[in-house]
Amino acid sequence: MVGTRPTRLNNKLWTKKILYIYWLMVIMAFLGQIMGLCVTIYYHPDYISYFIIHRMIIPSSIQVGILWTMHYLMNHKQIYSSKLLTISGTVVALVTIVSHPEVNGLQILFLLSMAVVLIYFDKKKLRFSLMVNLVALTSLIAIPSIREAITFYEYFSYHFVLLAGYMTYLIIIERGNEVFQFLQRAAEKEKELIVKSAMMERLSKVDALTGLYNHKTFHEYLDFLYEQSVSQGMPLQLALLDIDNFKMINDFYGHSNGDLVLKRVADAISEQVTEDDIVARYGGEEFAILLTNKSLEQAYEMVESLRLYIANQYHEELDENITVSIGLKNLTADISKELFFQQADELLYKAKRNGKNQVMYEQEEQQLVVQKN
Ligand code: GH3
Ligand code: MG
Ligand code: MG
Repeated sequence: MVGTRPTRLNNKLWTKKILYIYWLMVIMAFLGQIMGLCVTIYYHPDYISYFIIHRMIIPSSIQVGILWTMHYLMNHKQIYSSKLLTISGTVVALVTIVSHPEVNGLQILFLLSMAVVLIYFDKKKLRFSLMVNLVALTSLIAIPSIREAITFYEYFSYHFVLLAGYMTYLIIIERGNEVFQFLQRAAEKEKELIVKSAMMERLSKVDALTGLYNHKTFHEYLDFLYEQSVSQGMPLQLALLDIDNFKMINDFYGHSNGDLVLKRVADAISEQVTEDDIVARYGGEEFAILLTNKSLEQAYEMVESLRLYIANQYHEELDENITVSIGLKNLTADISKELFFQQADELLYKAKRNGKNQVMYEQEEQQLVVQKN
């Protein structure tokens, strides 16, 4: 089964590379011609000018002309036809064979020009190359000098060699496609694993019910933001929010309705904070908000409006509203991370003890209690 072929990805580049291989064939043929010239100079001095014109200049000019044309088509006309390239490769081989009938076995060059097409890993292109090379090989019989130089047996043998070469190349392509499909499947599996591990990583960071960061992730952010704030003197506040009388809500309306309320409160918090803030579900019905880039007054205004927002939310499952209490602590340089959290927690419980549904925060060592609405 042939799937998407890898060579399709950068066919232009490889088409150019194939052309370079043809240039190499022409250069090698020219080197062979120089050797032939040396032999001619030594053994057949009368034959030199004929050799130079008919064995060197004419064939090389045709070959260079073909390859230059291909270069022109690619670079100036953006034509990267594999068929044209296959034909030109075969013609280049044909010119070498025809111009040196006395060199036995040069017909093997057709096998080479077909092998070059393997680069595409494409059975259709290989079949086309076989046809072109078979036609070229068969047409050699029409050239008297070649007909004289080879026996009938040799002539047919070359055809079988070409066919055997085709079969071998076909198997190479099949094997290549098999390897490619294997790699493709492995790459797909790897992609799936990456997606899965990204999902797992996300799941390990968030709380399943509310979609907020979980306890563990909150502490990671707290560690990071605490260090950053202390070292760079950036403002940081921690707000701990606890739903008032939640146990009663659960007891009266059931756990599943309690869950719905929890989710709604979580959504409200996410909506009301800014992009600079981190929200986590710290415990059962407790939430933590790390507020950055704000003065204590701005942080207070935000959590106070959050408290009001939640207090005004109607929960149809309960047929009533719920309230929350919040402890807000501003980070100052002299307190440790543990103390920072502990003092926010103390403020929360002061808010609870003070009658709930309020924000408690410290300002210049004076505790301020915000009036209930
Ligand atoms: P307070 O106003 O002092 O905070 O009182 P409270 O009832 O809210 O506090 P308490 O700590 O006594 O009860 C918290 C309740 O939260 C108890 C527990 O059953 C409930 N809870 C904790 N996690 C979940 C949860 O995931 N879903 C639901 N439905 N309830 C939860
Ligand atoms: Mg609680
Ligand atoms: Mg509570």
